Amino acid sequence: MELINFNAGPSVLPTEIFPELAEAVTNYKGTNMSLLEISHRSSTFVEIIEEARQLVRELLKLPEHYEVLFLTGGSTTQFALVPYNLLPVDGVAGYLDTGTWSSKAIDAATVFGDVDICGSSEQDQYRFIPKDYKIDPEWSYLYLTSNNTIYGTQLHQMPETDGVPLVVDMCSDIFSKPIKDIERYGLIHASAQKNLGPAGTSLVIVNKNILGKTGRDIPVIFDYLEHIKKKSVLNTPAVFAIYGCLLTLRWLKKRGLNRIAKDNEKKASMLYAELDNNPLFIPKVRNSEDRSIMNVTFDLAKAGHEKTFDVFCENHGIVGVKGHRSVGGFRASLYNAMPVEAVETFVKMLQDFTWRFG
Ligand code: PMP
Repeated sequence: MELINFNAGPSVLPTEIFPELAEAVTNYKGTNMSLLEISHRSSTFVEIIEEARQLVRELLKLPEHYEVLFLTGGSTTQFALVPYNLLPVDGVAGYLDTGTWSSKAIDAATVFGDVDICGSSEQDQYRFIPKDYKIDPEWSYLYLTSNNTIYGTQLHQMPETDGVPLVVDMCSDIFSKPIKDIERYGLIHASAQKNLGPAGTSLVIVNKNILGKTGRDIPVIFDYLEHIKKKSVLNTPAVFAIYGCLLTLRWLKKRGLNRIAKDNEKKASMLYAELDNNPLFIPKVRNSEDRSIMNVTFDLAKAGHEKTFDVFCENHGIVGVKGHRSVGGFRASLYNAMPVEAVETFVKMLQDFTWRFG
């Protein structure tokens, strides 16, 4: 049985990339070498990472003064590197608290300086995105999580910041649509394992004009400027994961971000329509303007039905729909590589479940 993988990350990758990825394990492009055993300083790898960086630039139409890095340590490392590199010793940064990942970013930032938590949806279990908050023009940056993987909320429009640079965790929605007004962003970070490739590397896009202004010494390995100077090979990068990203970026370029965005909208609206209309399911996010098109979270209307639903999913080849352990319920992650037809199959399965158990 063909499985449909709704995992939240690591997650589904485009099926088209697997033949080349598999071949690279044993014989990378006729070199008789595995990509797993080549040097990260070899011209073979330098070509891979340079093409990947170039594709990121093209897809997001990055101006010259933006740099593209592939680093290790995940987005969790970026929670600390952002304030280390961007928050001056006597500075203040604004943070919007939209759940676990932004809370972790806030905790990391408080080690380096003053944090102004401008809004939070904690009192409503993070089921909405706060909107009526004030932005202080003195902030070094405003930090946002564009898609809240655990709760299924998404920031569909960036706030007006009056020149305060946006720093955005796009871990779970990067490349899900084109980015408007890129010049408003000081920095974007995203671990690869949702929309970009296999786990093991993180993409960092940074406007280099905002770097080097904190007044503090930064150890080389934590300094974005040093990584820029060394073109992401300051130390050994995640060679194979970056190759996986390159293949995914080529796939993204072939489709184009406009088509990707259209398909993502289609998948999400199809699933939300079913959840809204089917009496057996309750979407966790009521407010449609805050609903994520990447992670659709829902509960079952009848208590005690969960086990039956789990088994039903398993019997239909549906994998990874369990909600995050902190919130429970269910979650279907509809990342770029999830085909529209797979979501149609899932919707049909939800209808069959209702027919059987409703
Ligand atoms: N931010 C968001 C929005 C995430 O979903 C995740 C992981 N699921 C992270 C940050 C942390 O990423 P990592 O585990 O790669 O550090």
